[in-house]
Amino acid sequence: MTLITGKTQLLGIIGHPVSHSLSPVMQNAAIAVLGLDYIYLPFPIEPSRLEDGLKGFQAMGLRGFNATIPHKQTIIPYLSEISQEAQLVGAVNTVKWTEQGWYGTNTDVEGFLAPLKTLKQSWQQITPVILGNGGAARAVVVGCWQLGCPEIHVVGRNAQKLKTFWQSWQQTPLKDAVKCHNWENLSGLLSQTKLLVNTTPVGMSPNTDETPVTEEIMKQLSNNAIAYDLIYNPSPTLFLQMAQQQGAIVIDGLEMLVQQGAKALELWLEQPVSVNTMRTALTDYLGLD
Ligand code: NAP
Repeated sequence: MTLITGKTQLLGIIGHPVSHSLSPVMQNAAIAVLGLDYIYLPFPIEPSRLEDGLKGFQAMGLRGFNATIPHKQTIIPYLSEISQEAQLVGAVNTVKWTEQGWYGTNTDVEGFLAPLKTLKQSWQQITPVILGNGGAARAVVVGCWQLGCPEIHVVGRNAQKLKTFWQSWQQTPLKDAVKCHNWENLSGLLSQTKLLVNTTPVGMSPNTDETPVTEEIMKQLSNNAIAYDLIYNPSPTLFLQMAQQQGAIVIDGLEMLVQQGAKALELWLEQPVSVNTMRTALTDYLGLD
């Protein structure tokens, strides 16, 4: 059990609800290995109490925190500075107290990129296809752009939301890169891509027999493509199993989850942290192999 002392410093996560968050499990495991007198706690803050919550954190000397739904966008006006990633994504998931006030960034982008960067690929030749146009898709789009992908194809099921998504990039450096498509166009896009990313929740536990791409359409994926599912439970999802049968390299969402958490902890502590400890804490907690 972690020893709480009179000097214990506070980190945490805000959300509403926040009870589903896995961050306390992996963050406290990494803190324990470092032997630091910190603790990472869940803070369920209602949307209407966000400003009060931040004042409370400032008064208590909280060092930093993660933000999850519904605070990832609404927190931005309360921050003194935000990183380029967070500006482009339009959402903040990590906040740190500085002399100037609260600084916000988005470590989902780095988290998404971490497993891709271990692969040898000419990203300038790759035009990724991203399934879904919600919050996580935004971090994936920015990540693909940072890799140097010249065009990024986003496939969505709701024409109005897709249009709003497309419009949101028009005042950014990504305006020429982001192309949006209806779901009916997926079949034609799949055979052209070397990177297929699922950012929809389709196939997530307990709906493990669902997949965002039918078996028939998946057959068009080339055998040296990379299939990346942001879902981490189950692992592999049916989507990844089908892609693997096609000969694709497959990546599940666990590494992104671990790496975004590790980047946040490193920002707060200003020192390297054990990614392995965080990964093991999560796989043990989730009962994954
Ligand atoms: P979100 O904002 O709700 O976006 C979900 C997207 O999926 C929306 O575009 C939604 O379309 C689409 N979608 C939902 N059901 C669909 C279906 N049956 N067919 C086609 N499209 C469908 O959620 P999010 O925050 O982006 O998260 C998405 C997934 O990524 C979740 O599974 C989450 O756990 C995972 N995630 C993982 C990590 C990680 O670290 N590994 C990080 C973030 C998110 P509509 O708008 O039309 O509903």
